[in-house]
Amino acid sequence: MKKINGNKGNFKLAVMVIVAVGLLTGCAYTTKDLNEQSVLAINWVQTSAEYRAISYQTYNLARLNLDNFLATYAGSKPVAVIADVDETITDNSVYQAWLVGQDFGYSSKTWGPWIAANLAEAVPGAVEFFNYAKAKGVETFYVTNIKMDFAEGAKKKLKALGLPFVDEKHLLFRINTSDKQPRRDIVAKDYEIALLLGDNLNDFLSVFRKKPVAERSAEVDKIKDEWGRKFIVFPNPQYGDWEGAIYKGNWGASAAEKDKMRKDHLERWDYAP
Ligand SMILES: [Mg+2]
Repeated sequence: MKKINGNKGNFKLAVMVIVAVGLLTGCAYTTKDLNEQSVLAINWVQTSAEYRAISYQTYNLARLNLDNFLATYAGSKPVAVIADVDETITDNSVYQAWLVGQDFGYSSKTWGPWIAANLAEAVPGAVEFFNYAKAKGVETFYVTNIKMDFAEGAKKKLKALGLPFVDEKHLLFRINTSDKQPRRDIVAKDYEIALLLGDNLNDFLSVFRKKPVAERSAEVDKIKDEWGRKFIVFPNPQYGDWEGAIYKGNWGASAAEKDKMRKDHLERWDYAP
């Protein structure tokens, strides 16, 4: 009997230890867990032919709008287009895929080596469009939030991909603010801007910056005729200001908090099978 009781006692103790260790470690929701949620979005960019089709479609639309603009433009300023770089011209999904399985998110500490590795591919249709614009006498200004630290790597990449106007004048990197409006204003002083191209609403107007989810949508609705005309938007299901809006700007929230905020934003079917 004593022996049986002793075994029971050991068993209870073992269960308590397992539960305690589980609560302290195993149950904590980590950044690695959070990164798992990106798998399908990255799959979509990397494997779906639909992504390629949408990219071509978007650049075809840009070309059509540029042609229309040039057919009626009678101003004296030279014509330019303003383009974002990441996920508009370059596809960085290989970096995003690398984060899957890691217990950390995006940071400039790893973005630098990624840029230096020079592995990003061009978004389908990008190289052809910007060279088409050049052939029509239209200059491209690259307004990007890539930091100056990575300027050389970014220049090298754009040149290697065959993009035009990759020089000091036409590359406007992030210096003191992620707000792109001051850089757009610099271009607008001397050029007539025919189109803006980007994957993030910050690539078009500053009115969307740091706004919550519903307000971002309301601002988009207010100018619905601009989309697909002057404002050419590319799909990016992997990251963007839309994600920050879900976190109410709190990018420093824990993985568990981010997971909760993401799930709190799901509109769910209320159905019991
Ligand atoms: Mg971008």
